[in-house]
Amino acid sequence: MKEFASIGELARGLRQGDYSSVELVRHYLARISANSTLNTFITINEDEALIAAASADRAFERGVAGPLTGIPLAHKDIFCTQGITTTCGSHILENWIAPYDATVVHRLADAGTVLLGKTNMDEFAMGSSNENSYFGAALNPWDTSRVPGGSSGGSAAAVAAGLIPVATGTDTGGSIRQPAAFCGVAGIKPTYGRVSRYGMAAFASSLDQAGVIGHDAEDLAMVLSVMSGLDPRDSTSSDHADPWLAGILEDGLTPGGEKLTIGLPDEYFKDLNEGAALLEAAAGEFERAGCRLTRISLPHTDAAIPAYYILAGAEASTNLSRYDGVHFGYRCENPTSLEDLYQRSRSEGFGTEVKRRILTGTYALSVGYFDAYYLKAQKLRRLIQQDFLAAFAAVDLILAPTTPGVAFHTGDLTDDPVAMYQQDIFTIPASLAGLPALSVPCGFIAGLPIGMQLIGPHFGEQKLLETSALYQRRTDWHQHHPEVT
Ligand code: GLN
Repeated sequence: MKEFASIGELARGLRQGDYSSVELVRHYLARISANSTLNTFITINEDEALIAAASADRAFERGVAGPLTGIPLAHKDIFCTQGITTTCGSHILENWIAPYDATVVHRLADAGTVLLGKTNMDEFAMGSSNENSYFGAALNPWDTSRVPGGSSGGSAAAVAAGLIPVATGTDTGGSIRQPAAFCGVAGIKPTYGRVSRYGMAAFASSLDQAGVIGHDAEDLAMVLSVMSGLDPRDSTSSDHADPWLAGILEDGLTPGGEKLTIGLPDEYFKDLNEGAALLEAAAGEFERAGCRLTRISLPHTDAAIPAYYILAGAEASTNLSRYDGVHFGYRCENPTSLEDLYQRSRSEGFGTEVKRRILTGTYALSVGYFDAYYLKAQKLRRLIQQDFLAAFAAVDLILAPTTPGVAFHTGDLTDDPVAMYQQDIFTIPASLAGLPALSVPCGFIAGLPIGMQLIGPHFGEQKLLETSALYQRRTDWHQHHPEVT
């Protein structure tokens, strides 16, 4: 078995009988256990995975296997999984078991994939380094003294280290793209509404979107095609019909986009030191493939971080009010009154960053400050959306850095929340605009990966993925892997 196989390759191997799904699952379980110091998993689903793999093998024997039957995957620990804990990286949900599966989880299970475990994450998806996980940070397999990024850092690090071929993630302001970039793998945040949020613990509901982390564009497309689509249980899920995406499992992903016009936003390149040359080289690769490059401006980019942290905090403060020590999870010892129960359960159950968001969010929504903060942030959000819509009148896709630099050292930014927030400067704008965006590896600086971000118009995933496949056919950055045991 090839060490860092794509799921396309694994599916072929299973179909041809090169190995069984049980063998595949044992292989990945062994890798997960040999690399447990990377701390990429919160829960390993060993017994259930072997049962599911055996049933996948029977489907092959009976000739009823589908394209993803028997493929191992992992879910970020924010997706509800019936019978397996869903912690959201938090003490408050440490032992919580959801009574139902998230739509993403059951759609992928119905497609025959095998769930190996739940990956580590920043508490309630708030963070850019994984250091806000109650279960300790996952480590970057390229350099374990560095962070894997966040909040889907466990998923990205596990894929990068070859502990799992593909994993889900969620992205509210960059939590799929940034860790994918830091770990040298590919990750897509779909258009807001493309994937159902049902059963995905809510952080900032107007921004949260589920997506995929894997090695290549085709893997992302295959998993996305199963995850996405209208869900009556999420009223913000879209009924946008996309025959192309629906056909991916049968037809595969064809590299394309040679005739596209790609915009490079000035605001994203002006302060970029590390990685600027690599991104220019990536842009040059598209030009050689036949694309037209043009400089564009997204003038309200600077407003994105302040607007996001007001809006995401405000939404988080209401979403997280459900963790009250009564309905869900952790309850303090010996409460003396109802108020004491609420207060201590929440102050003992939540970590520092989550409390910071709840406090700032509550403040921004309070009478007297609502107009000054929340309303103003909404107006900025609209301006940012309009910047993108204007840009997409002239270009097909936008090419930008995913992060300001390579993965930073563990502990470097923990004392400076604002510096940590600045890490999301290039990923947050697309989130505020609800646009699809992905990150693919485009080079290395001193042995550490750098990501290129492509941002598309609403429901423009086909362009994003075909163009990424074109890039990956012409380069081999996605085939570099860290040395792990
Ligand atoms: N790092 C950002 C935050 O902390 C984004 C997180 C995310 O996308 N879930 O809010």
